[in-house]
Amino acid sequence: MFMDDRKDKDGLSVDEPQVSRDEESGGSDAHFSYHEGRKIFENSSKHVAVDQEDLSSSGFLPQPHHPTMMGANGNGQGQGKKNRTLSSNARHTLPDAPLSKAEIVNKITDDSVRDKTPLYKMGMLSDDASQQILEDPSPELVDLYTKVQECRDLRTKYQSLSLQYNSQNPKNSQDWEIYPPPPKPSYNAETKTVIAVTNKPDAEVFDFNECEIPGEDTEWDFGTNDDDSYYVHKPGKEDEILANIPSLRDYYKDLEKMVGISSDGPAKSFAFRRLQYLEARWNLYYLLNEYQETSVSKRNPHRDFYNVRKVDTHVHHSACMNQKHLLRFIKYKLRHCKDEKVIFRDGKVLTLDEVFRSLNLSGYDLSIDTLDMHAHKDTFHRFDKFNLKYNPIGESRLREIFLKTNNYINGSYLAEITQQVLSDLENSKYQNCEYRISVYGRSLDEWDKLASWVIDNKVISHNVRWLIQIPRLYDIYKKTDTVKTFQDICTNIFQPLFEVTKNPKSHPKLHVFLQRVIGFDSVDDESKVDRRFHRKYPKPSLWDSPQNPPYSYYLYYLYSNMASLNQWRAKRGFNTLVLRPHCGEAGDPEHLVSAYLLSQSISHGILLRKVPFVQYLYFLDQVGIAMSPLSNNALFLTYDKNPFPHYFKRGLNVSLSTDDPLQFSYTREPLIEEYSVAAQIYKLSNVDMCELARNSVLQSGWEAQIKKHWIGKDYELPGVEGNDVGKTNVPNIRINYRYDTLATELELVNHFANFNKD
Ligand SMILES: [Zn+2]
Repeated sequence: MFMDDRKDKDGLSVDEPQVSRDEESGGSDAHFSYHEGRKIFENSSKHVAVDQEDLSSSGFLPQPHHPTMMGANGNGQGQGKKNRTLSSNARHTLPDAPLSKAEIVNKITDDSVRDKTPLYKMGMLSDDASQQILEDPSPELVDLYTKVQECRDLRTKYQSLSLQYNSQNPKNSQDWEIYPPPPKPSYNAETKTVIAVTNKPDAEVFDFNECEIPGEDTEWDFGTNDDDSYYVHKPGKEDEILANIPSLRDYYKDLEKMVGISSDGPAKSFAFRRLQYLEARWNLYYLLNEYQETSVSKRNPHRDFYNVRKVDTHVHHSACMNQKHLLRFIKYKLRHCKDEKVIFRDGKVLTLDEVFRSLNLSGYDLSIDTLDMHAHKDTFHRFDKFNLKYNPIGESRLREIFLKTNNYINGSYLAEITQQVLSDLENSKYQNCEYRISVYGRSLDEWDKLASWVIDNKVISHNVRWLIQIPRLYDIYKKTDTVKTFQDICTNIFQPLFEVTKNPKSHPKLHVFLQRVIGFDSVDDESKVDRRFHRKYPKPSLWDSPQNPPYSYYLYYLYSNMASLNQWRAKRGFNTLVLRPHCGEAGDPEHLVSAYLLSQSISHGILLRKVPFVQYLYFLDQVGIAMSPLSNNALFLTYDKNPFPHYFKRGLNVSLSTDDPLQFSYTREPLIEEYSVAAQIYKLSNVDMCELARNSVLQSGWEAQIKKHWIGKDYELPGVEGNDVGKTNVPNIRINYRYDTLATELELVNHFANFNKD
């Protein structure tokens, strides 16, 4: 969830009530909404930047291994047509597929078929029986799996080109230096003793002058290409480029192809059944192994849910404190700094006291109720109303003073309250946060201002890393004449990043800040309709119309610029960035297809429940999904309807996150609140919670050496080998179940997708 500036800064009212297109009302046919999508496509009210006939051709990279599943999917490949075989696991889970009419007729008339012992699949199959099914799979089945594989290949192409795999990021290498160094461990697992260490907070240790700032790279330079994306080339030679990134046209071609596949009826039914099967498999596993699991975690010394590391994978920084905290802080400032000049409004500078007098309020009047920032009842399906909840007492000037980094007081109040939140986090030790902080793209100096805010105020902690959220607000800036074209936004966001990568000395603070930045988030109300008004989307420098570009277009330009930037940063040994947008919270499920191709992981994803084929792909590729059922409950989907428990059972890579503690939480530990409500409503066991915590660490963007300390030194290895029960408190039996389930599924994909290839 996210707020934006639309009202307070430019005085524009753009919050016309929007009836969300959410689907809850007509939920009966919930899993098949792609019918509509397809219809719209065919009626060509949606046009894509592609010519239809081009769809067939596409250049794939060689089939890579899934990085987390090395070696798990090798079985079906490279074998001749005869003597095909699958592991016994895979043979026990063979999928069912419809037969074509011709085939049905054939089989009926073929007596030899009729006379054979009728075979049915139910878990265990005798070897010759499964072999018979294996030798002669229906063409439909082969076709379905081929489609699955095509989509997976596309994702691999986009992910590897943009260096978003963890193994491609220099910060995950052994010799990456983290400054300030992470706190020393206070427990020795081998001797099982507590060691006395004194760890100073990062804010005390950090000294900007200690940071090494590398010099200029004269070997490479940057410019913009035909799509107006930044790219990296040899100085003076614009055709000698560092990396080839898929063009806007290629991207829309791939997108169209994937939307086509995922809206195909048989593919949807197939994926739907596969997902149902995965859930049933989980239920069986759970019935037969629950006690075994709990006994393992009981026997595990020292660890429990409270002292396993967990990451809040999706929090907006300006809502990271709880209301009680903010209230206390405002009252404190009003008592101790009332004569401080804090804001420039209506042609003059006001002190804090004057601001409150202009609002007719005293410190005594303030309470949680007057603050009115909780979002629980009146915000459902009203994102516009939710945005206003960011204003304390409904006053944008209080938000400006207390919750902005770039204001008259240079964000000093927000820095101070953030320091307090950081210190709470450090004391709690096991909780970590990935904060979203805004860069709007309205001017070129935003990055430098933000970096200075972080570095000068030392808003630095080993419990915190940053993601940069880019609000999709071109239409608002255009209306106020802040920008002329969409290209202005791209320039404001990316030019400083290319400058600092070429020569870190040009923006030293930004260079140091970026070492703590994980990547980009794309935020705003997804339920706003993406209007299509061009047969073919213009490139950013020609995008000067008042309409906002669609989600898929925003995401592409974040991706393409980031991909080139990453290639250069990796070459220089700097940390690379990833794309982790808000996606599938509301609006068009097609957003999820864009994100599947372009982004490492997503936040929300509740709309995956409507697109089974896409959900199945998210499962196979273990795309991280940071879910926030409490936030959804206030905005788009009531708690009991949230698909979170289904995703979890099926084995999707989900974690729990708080989104906006300021609006949604009641307690001082919002992340624990999120876990505890989920545990109560969905009846999660302790093992489930520890598994979710482990997922959150895996999804997060912390450096590999830190993850090793948190969840085990071999965490990158698949299956049981990668699990350290002593640190994660997740029994090996659970990890093994998850691994087998996924490996089997991937084996089937591999086997049938390559069935006719040799
Ligand atoms: Zn959010």
